[in-house]
Amino acid sequence: MTNPGSKESTNGRIHWYSTAGAAPDCSVLASEIDADFVVVGGGLTGTRTALGLAEQGAKVALLEAREIGWGASGRSGGQCNPMWRATPDDLAQRVGDACGARLVETTIGSADALFRDIETYGIDCDPEQNGWVQAAHCGKAQNSLERLGEAWNKVGTNISFQDRAQTQAISGSPAYAFSLFHPNGGHVHPLSLTRGFARTAIKFGAQLFENSPVLGMTRVGSKWKVATANGSVTAPQVILTTNAYSDDLWPKLRQTFYPLVSISLATAPLSDNLQKTVLPNAVTIADSRRAIYYSRYDRDRRLIFGCVGSTENAATLGGIQRLKRGLRTVFPQLADQPIEATWAGRIAVTPEMMPHLHEPDSGVLAGLGFSGRGIAMTSVMARTLVKKALGAGDETLPFPVLPVRPIPFQPVTRRLIPLAAPAMTLRDRLDAVLGRS
Ligand SMILES: Cc1cc2nc3c(=O)[nH]c(=O)nc-3n(C[C@H](O)[C@H](O)[C@H](O)COP(=O)(O)OP(=O)(O)OC[C@H]3O[C@@H](n4cnc5c(N)ncnc54)[C@H](O)[C@@H]3O)c2cc1C
Repeated sequence: MTNPGSKESTNGRIHWYSTAGAAPDCSVLASEIDADFVVVGGGLTGTRTALGLAEQGAKVALLEAREIGWGASGRSGGQCNPMWRATPDDLAQRVGDACGARLVETTIGSADALFRDIETYGIDCDPEQNGWVQAAHCGKAQNSLERLGEAWNKVGTNISFQDRAQTQAISGSPAYAFSLFHPNGGHVHPLSLTRGFARTAIKFGAQLFENSPVLGMTRVGSKWKVATANGSVTAPQVILTTNAYSDDLWPKLRQTFYPLVSISLATAPLSDNLQKTVLPNAVTIADSRRAIYYSRYDRDRRLIFGCVGSTENAATLGGIQRLKRGLRTVFPQLADQPIEATWAGRIAVTPEMMPHLHEPDSGVLAGLGFSGRGIAMTSVMARTLVKKALGAGDETLPFPVLPVRPIPFQPVTRRLIPLAAPAMTLRDRLDAVLGRS
């Protein structure tokens, strides 16, 4: 069965389009204009950055190659997972004590900040802040999660530790012996959130343009001229927010991450009886598998379930079978539930699984590499980009300003990405076979 309202794409049907809030009113850039800031990319990072700058009275132009939310932001699982994979000590080791402390503080407040934004700007995006269950798929993962939870609780989070019975009670899944519960987590309609940020940015005076891919940028005196096929924006500052869909606009930027794929399905709405046995309190859940299984409800109580995929076509290399097998593993009670839609999208995974803030030239900033944790963290990055673009010193930011450092051999290894999903799935199964679970 398909969902007639959802959007056709190259990779199937993106469920979110059938239930999204109104798209912002954007035109194609067809003239030469000036601005204080030009933002490239119309996902969560770009729209929230444009909003923040326009709110401060700046003249902002945003250029999106397709439509607002076309990239990962309109395909996302929409889970607000306000936590990194590293402990606060690991973060401090990587970025230094002072920056680490700012990063930890920002991280702890990231979910509340997102839900507060949604309320402040009146964004209609089905927000539910009921908590996030982070489940261990094997004994080794349980040990890591225990260490992670303990380390973050020492610096102020309120994570609880749940045994098998507690995990099953809160999630409805019999598949896990242990989980962390993050009370501040939750979920949103990702496309509605992106469109909501875009509409709010327009309300504050930003100009947003769709179907306006940036083809090149050149320095003109102290400014940058950013050119599309039919127009240009000249501004002292350019902010690149193109994440996993980055092209060759800035040299080697796309070599700083691996453009992995995430695939999702939407079931038909669950009956009242099934809803009592699957995520009964509408929490979100994501597990520790390499091929990560994650799920949450949409507002009509369809279950959205996802895992790692191979290409822009969700079906490549057994992707749909992998999704269905994952759904049965986590929620055996949904084995016969009809599937309404499947789709795929790109995520930008950096080697240390943390986003990067770059300033590759004067007047150029870039924020990308959310490594699958973008719903809350794109807003953290956007606020950082706004702060830096408006003149704040690097010593006040939660991310270090990094050089654009290409991953060695990335142009070769990224060709192997389609094989990553089957390989990760195999290793997850080996965890079980080798008795690690
Ligand atoms: C299927 C899937 C499930 C996910 N689930 C979750 C989840 O549950 N929780 C979570 O935290 N994260 C999740 N993520 C990740 C999260 O959605 C992303 O981290 C986040 O949306 C990234 O937002 P962004 O604005 O940085 O990039 P994007 O939304 O990808 O936007 C980048 C935009 O840049 C545009 N662009 C590129 N080049 C140009 C150019 N030259 N000119 C103009 N525009 C250009 C693209 O068209 C694109 O629209 C998921 C991602 C996917 C794909």
